[in-house]
Amino acid sequence: MEDGTRPVSQPVVAVVGGGYAGMAAAVALAEAGVTVCVYEAAPELGGRARRVTHRSTVLDNGLHIGIGAYSSLLAIGQRVRRAAGLPGDGWQRRPLEWHVHGGLQMRAPRLPAPLHLAAALAGARGLPFGARADAVRLMLALRQSGYRLDVDTTVQAFLAAHRQRPPIVESLWAPLCVAALNTPPERASAQVFANVLRDSLGAARGDSDLLLPAADLSALFPDPAAVQVEAMGGAVHRGHRVERIEPAGDGWRLLFGQQRSPPAGPFAGVVLAVAPRALAELTAGWPALQAVHACVAAYAHEPITSVYLQYPAPVALPHPMTGFMHGPGQWVFDRGALAGQPGLLGVVISASTAQRSLDAATLAAEVHRQLCGLLPGLPVPSWTKVITERQATFACVPGMQRPSTLTELPGIVLAGDHVASDYPATLEGAVRSGLRAAEALLGHLRPDRG
Ligand SMILES: Cc1cc2nc3c(=O)[nH]c(=O)nc-3n(C[C@H](O)[C@H](O)[C@H](O)COP(=O)(O)OP(=O)(O)OC[C@H]3O[C@@H](n4cnc5c(N)ncnc54)[C@H](O)[C@@H]3O)c2cc1C
Repeated sequence: MEDGTRPVSQPVVAVVGGGYAGMAAAVALAEAGVTVCVYEAAPELGGRARRVTHRSTVLDNGLHIGIGAYSSLLAIGQRVRRAAGLPGDGWQRRPLEWHVHGGLQMRAPRLPAPLHLAAALAGARGLPFGARADAVRLMLALRQSGYRLDVDTTVQAFLAAHRQRPPIVESLWAPLCVAALNTPPERASAQVFANVLRDSLGAARGDSDLLLPAADLSALFPDPAAVQVEAMGGAVHRGHRVERIEPAGDGWRLLFGQQRSPPAGPFAGVVLAVAPRALAELTAGWPALQAVHACVAAYAHEPITSVYLQYPAPVALPHPMTGFMHGPGQWVFDRGALAGQPGLLGVVISASTAQRSLDAATLAAEVHRQLCGLLPGLPVPSWTKVITERQATFACVPGMQRPSTLTELPGIVLAGDHVASDYPATLEGAVRSGLRAAEALLGHLRPDRG
């Protein structure tokens, strides 16, 4: 099944894009007995969550965290990792804790929800009692409304309407909003923020656990997913950029830019699991996807910058993840404690528009200075690496229109973190969209299945 061209007795489908969404779709289809060919433009799988090697050190294109509520990612991750002989789900799980240098310190005890949150706030340091009471009041109001807003608005306006005072906004809600939606409170959707609160702080205790990657982001899920797809008779083609998709009989054929790759297909179905801009390019001449193009054209994007600094091996953080009250860095991760890379610190700057004008060396020097405030006497790093993803996520603004999984074209379905759901652009959103795309395609391939 090298190029998907020979006749087969079972359906053969293509997945375009080997990010978390595409690989989740591919695994689900393979598990349902469909032969799957994945085409990924880059040499590595993972898309916006992938391994990057720098000076023979394995990094990620961006520092990622998850929460216990990432149920679909955890389940499929565990399945494919087990099949590949890898332990666990690839994440280090820690009870909800919040350590901000010079600010809020809180840790949820192992109590059933919502007592764990109440106890965490009751015992929190670095916040006056009134501010903690504000947070409890907001969570109770949200719970009472079923986490539904009558009208979507910005997080900033929503917090003001619920009389949340500056200390709790600055210490908890604003950093949480930026971390979860990668959009500042003045632009972010309050409804999507409420959805995140519903599934984390407002849900079962384990759902608000923090998940920190214990492997690089390609090794975490996409690589073992590829092993699983191939073990089930499919193929995963890295370095294959799909340039065009055209009808072929009852199905579809894929064309590649590279001379060396002949067209592939026909495929009975295609999962388009590429990010919004690539989707618009790939389907530009398709009038049937006009509504999709209109959604995608309206998206704005937010950048995320990651700054890695290699210090001598004994350098370590008091907590594997520590926040900052003031920039440029928002959170620093101890890759020694998390991924067995002693002395390597990774600093994340979400919605990093303000850093756009700084060159990499200046930004790294500023972040180093910031870290010296946390770890006095820190030596100069032996190297630094700055990675900015300019279109890390869509800007998650109020009332966004997002395309649905099904399209007007038979056998063409969409996957990706941008596809309609109540989640922001996250790994979990991407995986869920992939699973929905697989389900929709199975409905097309086997309309009589119960
Ligand atoms: C720096 C950064 C930090 C983040 N932090 C977090 C976090 O902490 N927690 C969290 O949950 N989420 C986080 N996210 C968001 C998360 O990474 C994304 O939501 C998720 O990876 C999106 O997956 P996807 O499969 O939908 O899209 P993508 O990962 O974009 O996958 C699309 C794939 O399609 C491929 N492709 C495009 N065009 C073609 C073509 N023509 N032919 C073949 N292949 C093609 C691309 O190369 C890519 O691999 C972060 C993102 C970034 C960038």
